[in-house]
Amino acid sequence: MSAEAREGECALGILGGTFDPIHHGHLVAAEEARHAFGLHTILFIPCGQPYHKPKPPAASAEDRYEMTRLATASNPHFEVSRLEIDRRGPSYTIDTLEALQQARPNCCWHIILGADAVEEISSWKRPQKLLRQCRIIVVSRPGAPWEEVEAALPTAYDEHVHRLEIPGLHISSTELRQRAAQGRPLRYLVPNAVAQYIRQHGLYGASAVKPA
Ligand code: ATP
Ligand code: MG
Repeated sequence: MSAEAREGECALGILGGTFDPIHHGHLVAAEEARHAFGLHTILFIPCGQPYHKPKPPAASAEDRYEMTRLATASNPHFEVSRLEIDRRGPSYTIDTLEALQQARPNCCWHIILGADAVEEISSWKRPQKLLRQCRIIVVSRPGAPWEEVEAALPTAYDEHVHRLEIPGLHISSTELRQRAAQGRPLRYLVPNAVAQYIRQHGLYGASAVKPA
């Protein structure tokens, strides 16, 4: 299948995540996928209740939404959706996709996943149905070798899945939360506005500072 959108369709991307907090790894993944697959817009969707993570997010949904908004504000091709944080119950990708398809019919949807997140596909609700309705772009991520991605993906999914090598940024939200708690710098790992928001609101155990 061609990676280009079919004629008459608008090609859109979805990057879902906890974004706890959002960082440059997320932004580079979205921009690289946008460029490589000719996507018009990337929708960042902070999740409400992640069903696949052992612990609830450290920051509130509103704080994660606000940080995502701040991080993406300068890119006219990036949008942030409240769909999952405003929905009650666990955030299932198929429910999100179906809601998006209703709101924007005739669009060709591409779900962007980091290589470490591919194994989540097997725990998705109705994965076969979802894979029939969209394309998946798996972007490389340091620490998640392609061999593991191949092993996690049943070959039946092959024609729906595209792999994309992107510049490797060894950044994770888990490490950023630890850094914030230890008073170590977040600068250059997250957009300035996000680092400032974390400081101002004392998120993740960072010492709260009053805005200048
Ligand atoms: P956590 O450590 O809390 O799991 P995270 O950094 O993995 O946070 P998520 O919000 O879990 O961030 O990730 C959302 C999506 O972005 C996932 O598909 C993930 O694989 C992808 N992603 C996150 N960081 C990177 C990165 N540095 N490079 C490529 N993809 C990434
Ligand atoms: Mg993660």
